[in-house]
This record gives sequence, C-alpha cells and structure tokens, in this order.
Amino acid sequence: MSNRAVQPDAVPTPPNPPSPAPASTSDRPARSATTADVIVVGAGPAGSSAARHLATLGMDVILMEKQELGRDKVCGDGLTPSAVRELVRLGIDTTGWQRNTGLRVIGGGHRLHFPWPEQASFPSYGMARPRALLDRDLAEHAAAAGARLITGITVTAPLTTPGGRVIGVSAKPSARVTYPGIDRPTDFTAPLIIDAGGVSARLATAMGRTKDERRPMGVAVRAYYRSPRADDAWMESQLELWDGPAGSSTLLPGYGWIWPVGEGLVNVGLGSVSSRAATTRIDYRAVFAAWMRNVPASWQLTEDNRVGRLASAALPMAFNRKPHYADGLMLLGDAGGMVSPFNGEGIAQALMSGRLAAETAAQAASRTSRAGRERALAQYPAALKAEMGGYYTLGRVFVSLIEHPEVMRLCTRHGLPRKHLMKLVTKLLSDGWERRGGDSIDHFIQLLTRMVPAA
Ligand SMILES: Cc1cc2nc3c(=O)[nH]c(=O)nc-3n(C[C@H](O)[C@H](O)[C@H](O)COP(=O)(O)OP(=O)(O)OC[C@H]3O[C@@H](n4cnc5c(N)ncnc54)[C@H](O)[C@@H]3O)c2cc1C
Repeated sequence: MSNRAVQPDAVPTPPNPPSPAPASTSDRPARSATTADVIVVGAGPAGSSAARHLATLGMDVILMEKQELGRDKVCGDGLTPSAVRELVRLGIDTTGWQRNTGLRVIGGGHRLHFPWPEQASFPSYGMARPRALLDRDLAEHAAAAGARLITGITVTAPLTTPGGRVIGVSAKPSARVTYPGIDRPTDFTAPLIIDAGGVSARLATAMGRTKDERRPMGVAVRAYYRSPRADDAWMESQLELWDGPAGSSTLLPGYGWIWPVGEGLVNVGLGSVSSRAATTRIDYRAVFAAWMRNVPASWQLTEDNRVGRLASAALPMAFNRKPHYADGLMLLGDAGGMVSPFNGEGIAQALMSGRLAAETAAQAASRTSRAGRERALAQYPAALKAEMGGYYTLGRVFVSLIEHPEVMRLCTRHGLPRKHLMKLVTKLLSDGWERRGGDSIDHFIQLLTRMVPAA
C-alpha cells in the first residue's frame, strides 16, 4: 500500500470547536459524506472505543471497517477487571455477558485460585465475550452515539500532503458496503486520521512506521469448544503444558488458557512470547493437538466438541510501533503495539487508547491555531507513556526472563505457593494495580515503574 500525495489546498480545514454536549443529528449542519472531524480505520475494540468517545464528545467521526459486523476474530476473549473498567467508562450495557471471579493458575504441581480483588479503580470481576459479539456490540455502541459506521469498506492507502501530513484515506467498498452512495473507490478526508486497524497497521506501515524488532512479540492459537464446564466461574491458566501425564512427560513450549465465554462455549488457546520479533519456529498446531490429548477429561475438549477453526495470530507488544502520534496520524491498540508483555492482553489497552485518543482529539479541536492543535495532539503519546510506559519497560524485562524455560519452571514451582508474592504477581500481570494510592503492593509496583525509563 502506498500513500497518495494530494495538493496542499486539499488539506481539510480543522473543525469548529465541538459543542460541550453531544449534538443531536438534527442540530448539526448537513455533513459531507466523505469528510469528518476524525476518520477511524478499524472497528475493533480500539477503533470503536475511540469512535464512541469522540461522538460522545460531540465530534463528527467516520468509523470504517473492512469486515461485516459479527465477523469472527482470533482472540482469547478474556476481559480482565482492567478491561471491564474501560467498558464501564464506555457506558456499554453488559447484561448477560459471562463474568468470572478470578484466575485459577495451574503449574509446578500447584493449583491455586486468585480472586480479582475489589479496588478503588477496578471491579472485582472480569468477563469474557466471544469477539464476534464483543466487537459487534462495541461498534453498534459507537454508532448509537452518532459515529458514522461504514462496514464492508477497506482502507487501501493514506492521503498525504506533499509535506507528508496525513489528511485522509483512500477506501475501496465491497459489494456489501453499508453506506449510501459509496459504490466505488473513494477518498475520505479529515484533520485527524486514526489507524486502529490491528496488527497489520496498514496506514502506519505505509507512513514508514515499522515495528520495532527489539520489542517483544507473542503468537497464540485458539479454538472454541462446547464444554460441560462452560459456566466455570474462573479463568484457567495453565503455566505448563504436557504431552502426557503432568510432571512425568515432555513439557511443551508455551502456556495455555481455558476460559468460559458463555453460550455453552469455552475459548481454549495457547501462546508463547519472545523478547524480540523473531520467529519461534514452534509448530503451534502440533503443540495444541498434543496438549488437547492431555487436558482433564472433565472439560471434554474433543474434536467433536470443537466449534469452528483453530486459528492463530500475532500479538504486538510493549509499544512496538511508534510514534503513536505524528503528522495527522494516531495509532491505537494493536496498530500501536499495545498488547501487554505481561499477559498477552490487548483489549483493555485498545479500549483505553481509544478513550485517550478521543480526549486528546477533542482538546485539539478546541485550539485556534495549527501549532496549538499539534501541541494538544502530542498529549496522546504522552498520556500513553504516563499510563503504561514504565509498566511496559518492566514487562520487557519480565519477558526476557520467562522466555527461558528453566526460569519459568523455577518461578512456577517456588513462586506460586507464596501468597503475598502471588498477590503482587496477579496485580502486575493483569494490569490491576492502582496508579495512585492503593495498598503496599500497589505502592511497590508504582515505585518499580517509576524507577525504570518509560518504554
Ligand atoms: C490468539 C489470541 C488470543 C488473545 N487473547 C486475548 C484475551 O484473552 N484478552 C485480551 O485482552 N486480548 C487478547 N488478545 C489480543 C487482542 O485480540 C488484541 O490486542 C485486540 O484485538 C486489539 O484490538 P484492536 O482494536 O487494536 O485491533 P483488532 O481487534 O485487530 O481490530 C482491528 C480492526 O480493523 C479492521 N481493519 C484492519 N485493516 C483495515 C483496513 N485496511 N480497512 C478497514 N478496516 C480494517 C479489522 O477488520 C478489525 O476489525 C489475543 C490475541 C490473540 C491473537
């Protein structure tokens, strides 16, 4: 994908300052079908969160998604309390979504339960929801607030000025595009463009923002199964995967999860992480098959009970693509490499980046000079860094330790039974630590994240 330069006179003028309250559609002047205050590419958690928050702040936003709503998405579907906190901020109705009370961790001969603690900033429960449903709900939630959602349209290239500022996108509709009057390749323009297109980050890549190979990268595979334990209240993590009886057979690479997601289903997957974006040469399908032959029969994870395909995808971690804002283009979620190196979680971070991007964009729109707007937009990477920078630096150290199987084995065998240590590890791994205040464990993590340079 290459970017197309357009003449400077095509640079869209910045929007008028947004009204403080969301404007009803009847209050607004007639809008152009192809211009907006902000264009968001990708209606995953990051894009839909941004679009919802932007629309709520009174901004005119076009949200473009290449797939149709309800498409399948390769994910573990797990929502920690940190993700639930963002869902609360979005104001989405989660009635009927599968809830869980904590983590069950199995490894090193131990089987321990770590309930999610109730804290000032986090609820005492997590959730899980198949991504086909979660992403549909989030996109519809954005549209309900006034975001103009277009599905069935693929963004093919950024539009840039000769000076390299991104001022729009070229997009190609499919036969199933959901937008009146768009039936051929069309250019859309806006003063701010958001790449929320996931790990492929097509706009960012076209603008030369390549991934940093020195940052960690994960790979994971997952499948859905019907299971009699689909209403289990715990998210189960298996820190050791065996190809026979536990403890007396061969240890397989990676860690596994079995998470009840509702609808009578569990999401089963395994992943591994390396401190650099090098290929691991692991045959994940073979490892998955070997693991499945040895999971406890009570789960009934048989081929007959498998629903849909076994699929894999990459997890871009620890801010492996930057800058998160420059030249009119913001990167959110996986496009900005925001998956946690501690646990492979990316939904909470995607939702959070959408919120921070929207707040920044609304501030920028209220500035009256170009320089003022740029200063305001620069607050987005600064906010990400303040929230996650030191934490992700620690995460990179964590990955470089646990990628050595002998270190992982030592931690599993000797660390798991230590209650206080595991309380710390659970908070650290699930991003469930208070940024301000909290207990002695929160204070300790705050101190650690301040001692290291922000990622
Ligand atoms: C196997 C696996 C298990 C995982 N398990 C978990 C988990 O349990 N919990 C968790 O929090 N995270 C998990 N993750 C990570 C999580 O899936 C991602 O971090 C998350 O999806 C990032 O959201 P996003 O909105 O940034 O990107 P995405 O969810 O990838 O959304 C990007 C959207 O952009 C659209 N798009 C892409 N390109 C274009 C284009 N050119 N034009 C128009 N639209 C476009 C795509 O169709 C997609 O809908 C897992 C990942 C994997 C691979």
